[in-house]
Amino acid sequence: MTLTNKIFIAMAAGIAFGSIANVLPESAYDAWLEQVVFLGLFDVVGSIFVASLKLLVVPMVFVSLTCGTASLGSHGNMGAMAAKTVGLYLMTTAIAITIALSMALIIEPGSGDQFNSQLTTDASYQAKNAPPLKDVLINIIPSNPIKAMAEGNMLQVIVFALLFGIAISRSGEFGAKIAKSFESLNEVIMEMVMILMRLAPYGIFCLLAKIFYATGFELIQQLFAYFMTVVMALLFHGAVIYTGILKLFTGLSPIKFLKHMRPIMMFGFSTASSNATMPVTLETVEEKMGVKNSVASFTVPLGATINMDGTAIMQGVATVFIAQAYQIDIGLVGYLTVILTATLASIGTAGVPGVGLVTLALVLQQVGLPVEGIALIIGVDRLLDMLRTALNVTGDSVVSCVVAKSENAIDINTFNR
Ligand code: ASP
Repeated sequence: MTLTNKIFIAMAAGIAFGSIANVLPESAYDAWLEQVVFLGLFDVVGSIFVASLKLLVVPMVFVSLTCGTASLGSHGNMGAMAAKTVGLYLMTTAIAITIALSMALIIEPGSGDQFNSQLTTDASYQAKNAPPLKDVLINIIPSNPIKAMAEGNMLQVIVFALLFGIAISRSGEFGAKIAKSFESLNEVIMEMVMILMRLAPYGIFCLLAKIFYATGFELIQQLFAYFMTVVMALLFHGAVIYTGILKLFTGLSPIKFLKHMRPIMMFGFSTASSNATMPVTLETVEEKMGVKNSVASFTVPLGATINMDGTAIMQGVATVFIAQAYQIDIGLVGYLTVILTATLASIGTAGVPGVGLVTLALVLQQVGLPVEGIALIIGVDRLLDMLRTALNVTGDSVVSCVVAKSENAIDINTFNR
């Protein structure tokens, strides 16, 4: 059986096991089941699995991106590639949020008295303060690269790796030696990904069983319209916009693409973290989709850090939902502001679980909606987080293919294999 199939079975089994345990009638075993199995064994194995993915992120981004930039050499046009990548990331996010707003305005998930009367009074949510834009810009440059790596500050690690790679390519024979060692190191790290991926079926089973045991579905019923609006917008963006962009810009088969995407999406769904999924995304985009390391090593880590279309969709629907629940009309200018701020907020959203809700506060504040409104939707957010992360990582891969095609850096035979 292929690893992808194993992961799929583990996913289904984990969801089924956790959900059944959640709805089982109270019994004498409840406390035991919870403490020993779900919060004990499953939590340990699940957390070890996520940690083992995260441990790869910094070394992988640094080594792979250094290799990629060094191999582009002085003839490569890094600036053009970077501009295309960032442009596409921004464009897809703006489209995502526009779709989300339109769907939410048609479906009206937050209308109805139940939210307004009951929940607005006891809702409470403490928003964190966002750092000023000036600091965000200054902080892109690492004053201490080792600290950036230790803290897992991805943008800073990317900047350092880019600089290092460019310097290698300009250092003649000295640089060539280092480049050779980095290429070897890159192969070794890719092998590490393969080793750790074998853990995935067990890790994913435990992660999902624990989450579905703890989450429960009652809240989904209460927030059904909100939940379904987000899910529909996610599906539409993935099935129509992404496949459309892929077909239009590359001519590649969307079906083949989605087949390659399966493991990446399953990892994104299970871990709810673009960051933790990054090693798998990079490995698959290079090995299965045939995107050259010089492109993938830049587009994938950057995407996992700044490109969050699924998150933007949740924020769009949530904004409309909260406006309707509080019966506040933010008007056309309000919605245009939401498109702008949610696009920026999704850049600022770190690829770890739950951060999308934190940056949603920014969007709400910008258009004068009550931040406490977040308390209304927090109950179903974990499940939505898993779904939107699966879309986030798909977006990174689509853009990687598009940029690679435009740079003539994709092996079509590998993609079609
Ligand atoms: N969990 C998402 C991700 O890692 C971010 C978010 O929306 O909270 O991509």
